[in-house]
Amino acid sequence: MILATHAITGVALATIMPDRPFMAFTTGVVSHFLLDAIPHWDYDLRSKREDENNPLNNDMIIGRDFWFDLIKLGADTFLGLGLGWIFFQSFFLDHGSLGLLTFTAGAIGGLLPDALQFAYFKLRSPSLTAIQRFHYWIHADHEKKLEPAIGVISQAFLVAVIISAVKFIL
Ligand SMILES: [Zn+2]
Repeated sequence: MILATHAITGVALATIMPDRPFMAFTTGVVSHFLLDAIPHWDYDLRSKREDENNPLNNDMIIGRDFWFDLIKLGADTFLGLGLGWIFFQSFFLDHGSLGLLTFTAGAIGGLLPDALQFAYFKLRSPSLTAIQRFHYWIHADHEKKLEPAIGVISQAFLVAVIISAVKFIL
């Protein structure tokens, strides 16, 4: 899913434990993999190179396209952090600096698995390879990616459900 969805979910879940940053971080990481398992849509990255026969050979090429992608990914992350802050700041502000740490930890946890994909592309170390294998395995079938229109609407709907669940039910 897009980074904004992962960041908002990490933050939303962190509100359940606003003074426990480590747990919020771990919950964020777990939420990332669970969200990715749901069939969804992702935008394309110009610098990404995909090997249809072996996804472990996928890569991101650092060049002009990469900087373009970085702006896109940065805006996506910023959107998630901004919305997370707008909707959930009250849960964290009551807990002072520990609350701010938990907000950050939840967001980082939600985003981390995708940052690790990039680390894998560049380093290919055994531990990163194991995580990449798992990420690819749990990720919804890449061949059955949703149409952009349906994908955007369904992902926005999912985010709305997550926000409402935390704000109105908890
Ligand atoms: Zn992912």
